[in-house]
Amino acid sequence: MSVLSRLIGLFISVVGATLIFMTMNDPQSFIWLFVGLLIISIGFNLLTARGQPKGHKPPPPTITEIRCSNTACDFKEIRDFKKGDFVLKPLETKCPKCGSLTAIEGVYIVKEEEPKAKSNF
Ligand SMILES: [Zn+2]
Repeated sequence: MSVLSRLIGLFISVVGATLIFMTMNDPQSFIWLFVGLLIISIGFNLLTARGQPKGHKPPPPTITEIRCSNTACDFKEIRDFKKGDFVLKPLETKCPKCGSLTAIEGVYIVKEEEPKAKSNF
């Protein structure tokens, strides 16, 4: 499949280059130059593709918010999500501030595309 996409990429690049060469004497060649370069860049993208599906990204990072169970204490910690984490899960670790037990306050998926204003209320 990747060989085929490379061949298509090569073909598209050649078409783009041919378009530029063929329209060089055209008074509006700058438009064709632009179009040709665009086509070549698309072709080169296909050519240099590493066989990964387009738009493939690593899974978004997930964070876990830990909070002290003592309501009078404002201790809060954010750490990487670990397998088995769930909201309101009581934790073994004690609050470094007051020594009370801590629990998971929330689990969030960090979206890079659209940073959403997170409300604490
Ligand atoms: Zn505390």
